[in-house]
Amino acid sequence: AEMFGQLTSGLETAWNKLKGEEVLTKENILEPMKDIRRALLEADVSLPVVRRFVQSVSDQAVGTGLIRGVKPDQQLVKIVRDELVQLMGGEVSELVFAKSKPTVILLAGLQGVGKTTVSAKLALYLKKQGKSCMLIAGDVYRPAAIDQLVILGEQVGVPVYAAGNAIKPAEIAKQGLQEAKKKNVDVVIMDTAGRLQIDKTLMDELKDVKRVLNPTEVLLVVDAMTGQEAAALVTTFNVEIGITGAILTKLDGDSRGGAALSVKEVSGKPIKLVGRGERMEDLEPFYPDRMAGRVLG
Ligand code: GDP
Repeated sequence: AEMFGQLTSGLETAWNKLKGEEVLTKENILEPMKDIRRALLEADVSLPVVRRFVQSVSDQAVGTGLIRGVKPDQQLVKIVRDELVQLMGGEVSELVFAKSKPTVILLAGLQGVGKTTVSAKLALYLKKQGKSCMLIAGDVYRPAAIDQLVILGEQVGVPVYAAGNAIKPAEIAKQGLQEAKKKNVDVVIMDTAGRLQIDKTLMDELKDVKRVLNPTEVLLVVDAMTGQEAAALVTTFNVEIGITGAILTKLDGDSRGGAALSVKEVSGKPIKLVGRGERMEDLEPFYPDRMAGRVLG
């Protein structure tokens, strides 16, 4: 199923109930607002987010009054669209680059979310913007993660610093950063170890790596398929290590959209990029307005 498919049709139910109305009123939006609430919850948007969203849309709808030439159902669509854009952060949240070379981007996330894939995708993405990149292989726990990154690096034509898995990630980070400075690259991207769940060792190691690298961007890679859990994860990682944003992967899968809609509001951190496929080219900025457009179908 297409992502948001169910959400889109759920919202259509809401608009349809306003057909034939002259103006939006406190009474005639009650049923449509219930439909919107239900549709968002079914799309796995987190409950506090849904509550606030519905309240804000209701307030705006009642205050709209009669607009010549615009039917009430279209008015409500417009309010929901604008509110969705705001919910997802409004503007595109661009990657930040350091004033002096190299910009360091640290990637974190649980195992299997697509972190290693994203590392190489991001290197290719930046290379296309004319930036020279270097990857650091820091996932010392997952068997073959280092080899996988070396292969992907070759595929996208970006050098990979690998030092095996017998030394600590913080030491790999230190050596990799030295190498990057020697090579005078614009951007260094470090892949790190993921675990099946958050544990203290993972967090402590990440803190060590962060201290060594002093990164400009710390991006948490989260799987869109985890729904509103993604937002909780972003919050936890932000509290524990301090992050600058998230990368949402597997948007091409049949996730219901809850992650895309919840992350910013729940965690305060923006989604900066999205992965929507297994190919190296499948990484793009997260556009709140386009995403809202997709929600509305
Ligand atoms: P890691 O454990 O976080 O490093 O995960 P990997 O980078 O090895 O990715 C795990 C699996 O997810 C691999 O089979 C990837 O090809 C796949 N994957 C990663 N990103 C995406 C994506 O955006 N869409 C799809 N369909 N698959 C992805």
